[in-house]
Amino acid sequence: MSYHRCMASGNPRFLTLPSLEAGGEVFHGFWTRGGREFLPSSTAPALRVDRVITGIQVHGDGIAVIREEADLATVKSRPFDALLTDRSETAIGVYTADCAPLWLFDPHHRAVGAVHAGWRGTVRRIAGKAVAAMTAHFGTRPSDLLAAIGPAIGPCCYEVGREVLDQMPQALTRWDTAVFPLNGEKARLDLQKANRLQLQEAGIPSDRIGVLPLCTSCRRDLFHSYRGERGKKGQMLNFIMLTNGLKTPPSPALPPSRGEEQGGGKF
Ligand SMILES: [Zn+2]
Repeated sequence: MSYHRCMASGNPRFLTLPSLEAGGEVFHGFWTRGGREFLPSSTAPALRVDRVITGIQVHGDGIAVIREEADLATVKSRPFDALLTDRSETAIGVYTADCAPLWLFDPHHRAVGAVHAGWRGTVRRIAGKAVAAMTAHFGTRPSDLLAAIGPAIGPCCYEVGREVLDQMPQALTRWDTAVFPLNGEKARLDLQKANRLQLQEAGIPSDRIGVLPLCTSCRRDLFHSYRGERGKKGQMLNFIMLTNGLKTPPSPALPPSRGEEQGGGKF
């Protein structure tokens, strides 16, 4: 599946999977670390970084549903690692720096989901639970969903120990195909693949799941990486928004990344 870079002022600002945006019904982005401006409020108010709705992320499996204004208070009241909404022009997002940002889009019921899936969220099956929650709240049929998995730490860089491996069987049936053993105690984990398989087990056809195959630790020119930067706190904001049928979404500028300084990304 292809992806492209959106460019603004000569720097890569965010990456998208065009397959998710077919028809212009959603607008989404996996922001890189290279920029800092906000969107002008007159262009796309919901996409100002201070208006992207994010949960209190704790690597759990809490799922919040935003259907009306009052739900916004709930989102800020306790931890949620996944947000769902059927409101147009309401941008939802997750912060990441190695964990996988994951989008769900139901074109029939016009609803979207944003999921933050690190290894803890993965073994708690947050992606599968988010699909089930979309069915419960919006009537979503999993086979209709389009999904996208954004940049995350790859198996090239993600060594995990027994505390992770012992719990992987509860994450998905085919967990062994997302783990590459190094020795009895350690293995490399493919977080994107584990979540892709979890979405397939939830009923989404494989050809409706896009993956942006970029490792946040290998590509620190583009991304913050918790492991690659030895625990520094920089994070990227990733967002998805149902539009009112815009065929050509506005091209946004980057929000500030959370935490340390932003560098100018180079491809
Ligand atoms: Zn890597």
